[in-house]
Amino acid sequence: MIWSFALHGGAGPTRDRTYEREEAHMRALLDEGAAMLEGGAAALDVAEAMVRALEASGHHIAGKGAPANAEGVVELDASIMDGATRKAGAVAALVGFESPVGVARAVMEKTRHVLLVGAGAAAFARAHAFATVTPDYYTPAVTRPVAPGELAHGTVGAVVRDTAGRLAAATSTGGLLTKTPGRVGDSPLIGAGTWADTRVAVSCTGQGEYFIRANVAADVSARMAYAHQSVHAAAAAALADMAALGGDGGLIAVDAAGEVATPFVSEGMKRGIATSRGVRDVRTFR
Ligand code: ASP
Repeated sequence: MIWSFALHGGAGPTRDRTYEREEAHMRALLDEGAAMLEGGAAALDVAEAMVRALEASGHHIAGKGAPANAEGVVELDASIMDGATRKAGAVAALVGFESPVGVARAVMEKTRHVLLVGAGAAAFARAHAFATVTPDYYTPAVTRPVAPGELAHGTVGAVVRDTAGRLAAATSTGGLLTKTPGRVGDSPLIGAGTWADTRVAVSCTGQGEYFIRANVAADVSARMAYAHQSVHAAAAAALADMAALGGDGGLIAVDAAGEVATPFVSEGMKRGIATSRGVRDVRTFR
């Protein structure tokens, strides 16, 4: 029974502080995800459950931990993709709901569409009775001042290979700190920040504008398909292509054999890996 998965809590960490609280929570989540997979859970369900828990933790720039945009409104982006069917769902600039990734999954399963944004996404979430929150729900994970022009950011994500060999990826974010209202990053864009097919599942984190321009998540799969690269080589090369444009960040990827890659070019990336071979590894820096 082979399974494996990886989580990330964003590529924003800096060495001026420690991340013990985040790491402890991620270790507990690895155990939860492992138990789900041991019990035969589907990759898609595990990816959603892991991202929901990361959103609810308040430890990262996603869900409860998300900061407000430049006008004081918390606008959130999320997406989810099922590798076997390549069905996908996403929301962007969603205001007022507890779990953007849950809404993204409903977009995938209950509409003919892939991406709903803003007021339309909120109306859809309301119509499907998703839990709402008021602005006082949020406890931003990062409150430091952002320098003019700085692209400070954070995100959460999960990539999963289940015991049936199915792959899934999910990503959820508050995006850039002090972002312009209406700004959408890579996280809800299928191909840029999230991807899953029968080869690989990918969730990205970093300066979204660069990840969009390099179409990083889908590029990992393309490199595996066309250049016959391993998940490690493909993930590193796709990330290097993004970094060559001047961006920073990282990604997590799992292939059909359960091999996991977690490259990053940023100072750190909160990440965890668990596999059926007994790996349980949580790290923030190199
Ligand atoms: N990629 C996210 C965005 O640009 C932020 C992050 O991953 O830290 O919205």
